[in-house]
Amino acid sequence: MKVFKFGGASVKDAESVKNVVRVLKHEGFEDTLIVISAMGKMTNAIEKIVDAYYYKTNNLAAQIEFVRNFHIEIIDNLFENKKNVILFDLEQLFGQLSGFLATNKSTDYNFIYDQVVGFGELLSTKIISIYLNEIGINNSWIDVRDYIKTDINYRNATVNWEETTININALNTNNLFLTQGFLGSNSKNKTTTLGREGSDYTAAIFAYCLNAESVTIWKDVAGVLNADPRYFEDAKLLEQISYSEAIEMAFFGASVIHPKTIKPLENKNIPLYVRSFYNLDLKGTTVGKNLNLLPEIPCYILKKEQILVSISALDFSFMVEHNLSDIFKTLHDNKLKVNLIQNSALSFSVCIEDKFNNFETFLSKIKLKYNISFVNNVLLYTIRHATQNAIDLVEEKGVVLLKQTTKGTVQLVMQ
Ligand code: ASP
Ligand code: MG
Repeated sequence: MKVFKFGGASVKDAESVKNVVRVLKHEGFEDTLIVISAMGKMTNAIEKIVDAYYYKTNNLAAQIEFVRNFHIEIIDNLFENKKNVILFDLEQLFGQLSGFLATNKSTDYNFIYDQVVGFGELLSTKIISIYLNEIGINNSWIDVRDYIKTDINYRNATVNWEETTININALNTNNLFLTQGFLGSNSKNKTTTLGREGSDYTAAIFAYCLNAESVTIWKDVAGVLNADPRYFEDAKLLEQISYSEAIEMAFFGASVIHPKTIKPLENKNIPLYVRSFYNLDLKGTTVGKNLNLLPEIPCYILKKEQILVSISALDFSFMVEHNLSDIFKTLHDNKLKVNLIQNSALSFSVCIEDKFNNFETFLSKIKLKYNISFVNNVLLYTIRHATQNAIDLVEEKGVVLLKQTTKGTVQLVMQ
């Protein structure tokens, strides 16, 4: 069995959906399971529905209309006849959404988020499944929530592998299946999500449980590149990389593959192909066991919106174990993500990310016991397989505030 994953960009309008058909016809689709994300930027749009509902702003109806119209337009451009079948399914899903919003009693934002945001994937897979059936590509639509079981940690659920494996093994293979990325359900049968951009991970979960021969992620770029082309001219395709290289790159912040995706594939030695859905002649990138980086070139990863913090003791005592553990606990308590650490006798520097807007709270706590200074909005560059040329290239981009080298990996905090 093969697993294909199509992300939002690959199904962003009717033309793109027709292109998915072209990919399937070119590659073959026997014995395949297809994982699909919400169309285009619909997850962001549905997040706005969640916020409008939760914070009781006056644009709830308008946000829902926006999402509905987006899908209706795609349906209009896609279907020649039998539009009533898909429109019926669409209205049913919007009925379920309104029903939930009207009857919900929970005040848990994360719970509400998962119940609502999942409609993006339900809508996209319904539309595409019915379309494929109509043009003669027979497929079975399956509800991923009957297969992927998770804990109750809404918005970042952990997979229950035991139950999930049993469920997925019950699938009759030799078929073309189509299902939703990103979603799961818990023991109360409530929808959960695996974290933003989690559809890659869904593909890996199915591949693992099915002992699939491969996973292919179809992208609007040629494959995994050695740098983000938005920030680096002359980004090059990596033809092959090892699982560990992919994990390291994701760890340092490369956004091309969802970080949780690689481990399940590595455990069963299932190759991952990252390929262009535009140019099917390109081989793309192969991620596999012990594959040497090819070509062997420096890889650049940029993380934006970092805060560089420097902390020292109020007296002239050293920064040693007990102060460090105190600082780390405060960082952890405030959900601040640490991306780089540098320590000297008198001061401790750390580059952090403040996703949950807790930096002020952190600051007020730390100030009571330490001297602290910080620089906001700095950039963190990581260069893997660094060469002097590569370091020069990054250093030219601004002022270096901090630099750290470990085994061929150079990190630079820049302003
Ligand atoms: N639709 C979800 C998101 O945009 C999941 C995904 O695309 O992987 O985060
Ligand atoms: Mg997406």
